[in-house]
Amino acid sequence: MQTLSEPPTRWAWAEINTGALRRNTRAFKSLIGARQRLCCVVKADAYGHGAASCAKVMHAAGADMFAVATVLEGVALREAGQKLPILLLSEPPAGAIDALLEFDIMPSVYSPEFAWAYGERAASLGKVGKYHMAINTGMNRIGVHYTEVVDFRRSVDFHAGLQCDGTFTHFATADEPDGWDHQLQCKRFSEAVACLRDAGFDPGIVHCDNTPGSILNPAMHFDMIRAGIGLYGLQPCERTRAVLPLEPVMSIKARVTHTCHPAMGEGVGYGFTYRVPRTRVEICTLPIGYADGLPRVLSNRMEVLFNGRRMRQVGNICMDQCMVAISENPMHPVPEAEVGDLMTIVGRDGDAQITLDELASMCQTINYELACGFGMRLEKIYV
Ligand SMILES: *Cc1c(COP(=O)(O)O)cnc(C)c1O
Repeated sequence: MQTLSEPPTRWAWAEINTGALRRNTRAFKSLIGARQRLCCVVKADAYGHGAASCAKVMHAAGADMFAVATVLEGVALREAGQKLPILLLSEPPAGAIDALLEFDIMPSVYSPEFAWAYGERAASLGKVGKYHMAINTGMNRIGVHYTEVVDFRRSVDFHAGLQCDGTFTHFATADEPDGWDHQLQCKRFSEAVACLRDAGFDPGIVHCDNTPGSILNPAMHFDMIRAGIGLYGLQPCERTRAVLPLEPVMSIKARVTHTCHPAMGEGVGYGFTYRVPRTRVEICTLPIGYADGLPRVLSNRMEVLFNGRRMRQVGNICMDQCMVAISENPMHPVPEAEVGDLMTIVGRDGDAQITLDELASMCQTINYELACGFGMRLEKIYV
């Protein structure tokens, strides 16, 4: 875990607040009973926050399991020393089976062919291949159809190399728990689990709630909740905000690398989408661009914080850099920036704050996508 306050080689970074991450994890723990488990979803490098480091913090704060989206994400967690159970949230190609068994990663399973191949290989190594059965209750993304769960278990359970460790589904509209669509998914899932039990099959750990479901629909917690976005302090929707306050974990910071005062009419950046007006303007360059997850559609629209004040980003955002204007304003004089001065792209500076939600709504997307993007190249500093 990086312990410096900023990276030595680059004046742009993602600051990850481990205290906030710990408190958010505990907040989810507090939603569930002592016998229920918390599965922390750390796919996509923990939504851009750095999976290995975040998993350590979550483990210490009470995580019981981790969920990943790819086999290599699971392998990376194991190579970082993670010992808790790891669930892969989809069924990988058969070529992944050896890695699953070697690194003790439980796949989600929903095709008999995969289950058989997995069971065969496990048995030939003298192991038992644990899996979670995914049920399609209406999202129509992955899973065994909710009416076919008993048949599915019958077709795979005879295999001595297989063990069903859990049964789950995923909700498409958990942010609207009173809606008919959500109620229908809940009903289909509850009935499918009951059918499995009636037919004599042990479903193992039963789970379905994601972040919004965990917060808004505790009746569906079953044996485990799978929290992702909320752990990182981001709200999945407006409704959850009032129920479970969370602290944002990721801030994006950069230092000014260059300043200049172009004359009136001069352009800034590719395409000159901004031109210097009549007033004196200081153009400050920040070494962060769209390859760092700062979407180019925000060009000339977003703001950054400097000394607790909002400043306009100007010109097209480049791959690795962008420019900010500090305009002369006789009503509110602002000190100009110098090379090395700190600016905040996401996070708090004094009383001012820019959230991932603000940027996401300007991009017509969700905070999830922005967080993942900032994780791509920026170094993470854990504070
Ligand atoms: C991503 C994901 C989650 C976590 O969802 P959040 O909304 O981030 O809490 C849970 N379950 C599955 C199957 C997922 O794909």
